[in-house]
Amino acid sequence: MGPVTAVGPVSIRPGLASLSGYHSPQVDVAVRLNTNESPLPPPPEFRAALAEACGAIAFNRYPDRDARALRETIAAHHGVEPSQVFCANGSNEVLQCLLLAYGGPDRTAALFEPTYTLHGHIARVTGTAVAVGPRAADFRLDLPAVRRVLAGSSPVVTFLCSPNNPTGVVDTPEEIEAVVDAAPGLVVVDEAYGQFARTSGLDLLAAGDASAERVVVVRTFSKTWSMAALRLGYLVASPEVVAACELVALPYHLDALKQAAGTIALRFAAEMAERVAFVTEERGRVAARLAALPVETWPSEANFILFRPATRHAQQVWTDLVERSVLVRDCSTWTGTPGCLRVTVGTAAENDAFLDALEKVL
Ligand SMILES: *Cc1c(COP(=O)(O)O)cnc(C)c1O
Repeated sequence: MGPVTAVGPVSIRPGLASLSGYHSPQVDVAVRLNTNESPLPPPPEFRAALAEACGAIAFNRYPDRDARALRETIAAHHGVEPSQVFCANGSNEVLQCLLLAYGGPDRTAALFEPTYTLHGHIARVTGTAVAVGPRAADFRLDLPAVRRVLAGSSPVVTFLCSPNNPTGVVDTPEEIEAVVDAAPGLVVVDEAYGQFARTSGLDLLAAGDASAERVVVVRTFSKTWSMAALRLGYLVASPEVVAACELVALPYHLDALKQAAGTIALRFAAEMAERVAFVTEERGRVAARLAALPVETWPSEANFILFRPATRHAQQVWTDLVERSVLVRDCSTWTGTPGCLRVTVGTAAENDAFLDALEKVL
């Protein structure tokens, strides 16, 4: 896509023109390890149950606007109240709703790079200013720098991402608490890979102290739940935050099929935990083989590994891998990860294909 230009006298909103769309190239290759999806489909029993539920949907009617069954099931899964759960079409739409409700002109969101590119992107699309702070060299939160950025920008929303994309680093409960203490507004912890970590921002919410009402935990069905195609994400927060998001969400934004699919999916928590265990084991195997190659790597607590080729340019390695039908993510132009690539942990065969190709390319 070329630059966005005006149609005759009509131009887009100032501030949008400088943004570029967010996309990972969808290249036709045999081994796709670029977008951190689960390599495994959901269990066949899920498909069967969904097909049955599909037969019972009243397609001529609008869906349950409050998505009650889905929110009750998610709430029970996390041991919270349904009034603390807001669902949307992917966690990215959850983030967009948060920013539509709390961001906007004259308001600021803070984030610490390297981190998920879409936090800043969605903020800017909603007219929210973005204050950016650096993470430490080991990609952990640099708390003095965090406090400086928060004091200087008074953000209405502060974004964390744990495990962080693209580094795989988990923010500890103590670190998150320190950020909540220093932040004047909401602290949004994006836990797209939360099932891989031993700790969660949800523990802070459960602790229920005064500052907990400013904690927002965002989760998705796209990764561990093997349902990127479904586009379903949610947040767990105080009921006031949920009400604010409902204010800006479009009426009936969650279709009936998605509501049914999400509700049914949660019956398969044990199968999903098995998938997480499998991916975690494969991640160890990939990391061990990477350690023998001329690349720098960082310990990951997610379903991907960030690595930096030591002997060749990242973009050249990326291209050479594509030529061998292996697609990884090029993070080399992102802030804070110069020269880095990110590989998603796939099936054993996919991981071997990646490692074999990388060995040759290097
Ligand atoms: C993949 C990912 C998401 C998922 O977004 P969806 O819209 O739910 O598919 C959200 N946050 C982070 C950090 C991610 O890596």
